[in-house]
Amino acid sequence: MTSAGRFAPSPSGELHVGNLRTAMLAWLFARSTGRDFLLRVEDLDRARAGSEAGQLRDLAAIGVTWDGAVVRQADRGAVYAQAISQLTDAGLTYECFCTRREVQEAPSAPHAPQGAYPGTCRNLDPAEVEFKRSMRPAAVRLRSGVAEYTVNDVLHGGFTGVVDDFVLRRNDGVTAYNLAVVVDDAAQGIDQVVRGDDLLPSTPRQAYLASLLNMPVPEYAHVPLVVNSDGVRLAKRDGAVTLGDLALAGVSVADVRDRLLRSLGLPAGTLEQALGAFRSDSLPKEAWVWPGA
Ligand code: GLU
Repeated sequence: MTSAGRFAPSPSGELHVGNLRTAMLAWLFARSTGRDFLLRVEDLDRARAGSEAGQLRDLAAIGVTWDGAVVRQADRGAVYAQAISQLTDAGLTYECFCTRREVQEAPSAPHAPQGAYPGTCRNLDPAEVEFKRSMRPAAVRLRSGVAEYTVNDVLHGGFTGVVDDFVLRRNDGVTAYNLAVVVDDAAQGIDQVVRGDDLLPSTPRQAYLASLLNMPVPEYAHVPLVVNSDGVRLAKRDGAVTLGDLALAGVSVADVRDRLLRSLGLPAGTLEQALGAFRSDSLPKEAWVWPGA
């Protein structure tokens, strides 16, 4: 299998300049290292009708090209179920009946980091499981053997983060992002994951899960986000931040692309032209403040 990088948007609305900048970076990382570049639509939930087509159109407009067919997570339920069965057969899962509120209100287990699942359902006896099954559907959690795990990141170096008994399948039957992302990256031969640094804290969970599934752990690069003038992650409410809105404000797609390239210390022009100047070790380490249209 060839090695590849990827962009994996959730089709929950239009991409904004922060998403587009991350996609450009993922493309530059992959292409500058001779990798294929794949696109995966993460439509397990939060999918909004029409968003996927708009996202693909905007990526292409900015010059982010991809190889092969787009993969959609909604088509891959059987593959995720197989991975969860593999973990279950190895004694690495358990059913959890907690509501979100119960998890939030449960006292944390001693020594457990803030926000980690306290393990309420980890050791239920079979009779309790039987009874709880009759009351409400179960989620499936990982029976983690570690409390934390260390990953290596091209931009952040060694990063150690929490690994709790995180959810693999929600109690509404939807596969959890952390499971799907690991299974898909491995299945698609993705050995380089470039994405926003808001996902760095989830990465130890994902790398640990890959190791349990005997899947390779990809190279990670968590890139700085685009923020608004208050330093908060850019969002749709921050004004004209999509290609559509910017066009209405008189900013062309080429202008947007050039601004994003310059924000990365790269020359304006096509992404192919920027490739020659791209160096992963001289990227800005700080979030970039979107100056507005
Ligand atoms: N689908 C996720 C998002 O749009 C990204 C997941 C990833 O890159 O691993 O936030």
